[in-house]
Amino acid sequence: MILSCRDIYKRFGGIKAIDGCTFAVEQNKITAIIGPNGSGKTTMFNVISKLVKMDRGIIEFNGKDVTPLKDYEFARLGISRTFQDVKLFQNLTIKEHLQIAISASNERFFLNLLKGKASETMFINEVLDLVGLDKQIDTYATDLSYGQRKLLDLAIAIAKPHTLLMLDEPVAGVNPRLRDSIKEILRELNDRGESILLIEHDMNFVMDLVDHIFVMDAGRVIAEGVPEEIQKNPNVLEAYLGK
Ligand code: ADP
Ligand code: MG
Repeated sequence: MILSCRDIYKRFGGIKAIDGCTFAVEQNKITAIIGPNGSGKTTMFNVISKLVKMDRGIIEFNGKDVTPLKDYEFARLGISRTFQDVKLFQNLTIKEHLQIAISASNERFFLNLLKGKASETMFINEVLDLVGLDKQIDTYATDLSYGQRKLLDLAIAIAKPHTLLMLDEPVAGVNPRLRDSIKEILRELNDRGESILLIEHDMNFVMDLVDHIFVMDAGRVIAEGVPEEIQKNPNVLEAYLGK
């Protein structure tokens, strides 16, 4: 297991956002967390990336207990994530965003990879190619469409040195054609050996993409299994229809 979360709890005032959540993510697999709105999916991501401090629970990353780590210590472990609401700098270009992503780490292997500017540009072009963001690299974020911003956000996450990719609703609000192409990108990344944990509200999107699904409702996992099992699970249907 690359990531393991056990018995996580998080309250916001009277709201039990995470209420005893347990799940684990296997290496080189695509894992999805699905569930109705408000079931605690994003909060779980925030707890894992230490943006939100959990009340109780244990998180292990690559077999190591990372529960006590500070956020900046945790950032170095190599989890790269996107946000449900894309966060970009309006006054920076595509290229500048990716340069920041690359420089976000001083890991040796990465510095070796980037000997000099030429290879940096090569790397940036490679990442943009992979996500299919077909815009000049000097384009400002503010001049990108919603879909293009979503792709840039994905490119940034990929460009950061990481061993686990966590994507919060990577296809939310994008058109059907772009949904399909993002699905293809995720398959390609997985073929290259990436471990991916993604949050998705729409069950249908993940069915033909992921290896394993955890279904959250009211802050805990109510079902898990391969997509075919989840599709047949009456508890899952009820959780969705009950909302
Ligand atoms: P999901 O991503 O599954 O839609 P969230 O994790 O965003 O769900 O939200 C789970 C619950 O926690 C919701 O009731 C939400 O309103 C609440 N919540 C999330 N973040 C906060 C916060 N920072 N302060 C107060 N309540 C929050
Ligand atoms: Mg969410």
